[in-house]
Amino acid sequence: MIVLRGRLNGIQRNRIKGLLNMLYTSKELASEIGINVNQIYAVYVPLGCPVQRDDRKHIFINGKSFAEWYTKVYIKIRLAEDETFCKTCKQGVKIYQPKQKTKGGLSYVLSVCPVCGRGLTKIIDFKR
Ligand SMILES: [Zn+2]
Repeated sequence: MIVLRGRLNGIQRNRIKGLLNMLYTSKELASEIGINVNQIYAVYVPLGCPVQRDDRKHIFINGKSFAEWYTKVYIKIRLAEDETFCKTCKQGVKIYQPKQKTKGGLSYVLSVCPVCGRGLTKIIDFKR
């Protein structure tokens, strides 16, 4: 099953690659990645992210272990060219009834999920 909650964007994913083999406090880790510290407690810890607790229940996270854990849990979503990702069905679905649009250098395709009917957007090109 594909986990969507807590998924990082490209910039944040690059930042976790730079995490060191040392313990971070939850606050330090959040600021290194560029996320809200609550995301660690509300999403990553319940999902089983590797943490160490001290006597006062403060959380410490090893940067390298976190990066490895993240890559394992958040499997890369691979889509074929004629597919788009449906967040309701949590899977790639065929682009159905496509409407191509362009707005401010951004080209995207609007489609409808053939399974659940959700309106979907796939970005296909971006030119500044
Ligand atoms: Zn769907």
